[in-house]
Amino acid sequence: FRITPGNDEEVQVLKKVLSHMKVDFWQPNSVSMIHPNNTVDVHVKHSLTQSLHAHLKQRHIDYRVFISNLQKEIEKQTGHRSTRKRRSESEYDYEVYHPLQEIQSWMFEMNRTHPYLVHMFSIGKSYEGRPLYVLQLGKRSRPQKKAVWIDCGVHAREWIGPAFCQWFVKEAINSYKYDSVMRRLLNQLNFYIMPVFNVDGYHFSWTTDRFWRKTRSKNHKFHCRGVDANRNWKVKWCEEGASYHPCDDTYCGPFPESEPEVKAVAKFLRKHKKRVKAYISIHAYAQMLLYPYSYKYAAIPNFDCVESAAHNAVTALYSAYGVKYRYGPASTTLYVSSGSSIDWAYRNGIRYAFAFELRDTGYYGFLLPETLINPTCTETTRAVKAIASGLLKKCESYRDVFPYL
Ligand SMILES: [Zn+2]
Repeated sequence: FRITPGNDEEVQVLKKVLSHMKVDFWQPNSVSMIHPNNTVDVHVKHSLTQSLHAHLKQRHIDYRVFISNLQKEIEKQTGHRSTRKRRSESEYDYEVYHPLQEIQSWMFEMNRTHPYLVHMFSIGKSYEGRPLYVLQLGKRSRPQKKAVWIDCGVHAREWIGPAFCQWFVKEAINSYKYDSVMRRLLNQLNFYIMPVFNVDGYHFSWTTDRFWRKTRSKNHKFHCRGVDANRNWKVKWCEEGASYHPCDDTYCGPFPESEPEVKAVAKFLRKHKKRVKAYISIHAYAQMLLYPYSYKYAAIPNFDCVESAAHNAVTALYSAYGVKYRYGPASTTLYVSSGSSIDWAYRNGIRYAFAFELRDTGYYGFLLPETLINPTCTETTRAVKAIASGLLKKCESYRDVFPYL
């Protein structure tokens, strides 16, 4: 359901109804973020749909049903796998969603077949003991190259994320020979690409719950599992826009970096912060390019440089298929959230920190059809190349001494 409450009264009614029904929030992430005239996308159990229709009609609250049979849409992406091109064939299919095992095999394969450009390593283990693999992408030459970090799949259900990370690696390797921009990027920079950040959650979204968002860690007091890996960072941890309750989708965790996945990435970035010039996190959905601050309404010290990098990125993205992205500080463009990875990266000296919210704007939401993987990844690759290219030029507009928060 896409629901648009028109005034405060409707917001109050909606909050009550949706909390009572324990719906799955798609956008925004929690009941507390419902505001007048802002759309709310929710996934409702079949058994509750008639009741929700009735409530909304009775109160004259504006709404639309985008997907009437979610199960059918899910099966389009996970069912009938055997009839499709699988990894057993020599060509890896970048235009389907892959389960974790296939993505990991693909990483080993890239590492094996492209030793000149790819180096695979693990930065630690997930809560359930899975390795946290990262691909270093770039020509092996000077040891102290500048670097760009890209992570995908922080939130399990955002499947387009891991698809993008794989696409970007493929595109970089293939175009290295003929694309002078990509060649310069790979010669002068290293990309650290983590295709699946939240490996446990991603696996769970394939086996059990397609709309799982959090990690899979257990809680001592509650049955609910998992922490929002984008609320668990040590920066204004668990303040506005995060929840203390373990059953909420935006649960910040028992303490900062409680999640081994977050801790491992934070440790890697801390260790390499002198070299890592940009941090990019790939999410879905909203069609937005966001930068700090997430936790407050204020401009970052190097706002002009970051804003112009974002402008260049969305312009490059638009040039592919005319898809429009909004861009700006996360707090004002999307919503306020604390303990986010971009704020953490920024506070730790990475002056260019971005979060992409990829396609779409809610029509398919997390169930973006596989036919849209190609265009979505093609346009996003242009945006990421634009950001990376900007790092090779100097931007001097720091109003203040850095770091500054
Ligand atoms: Zn996300």
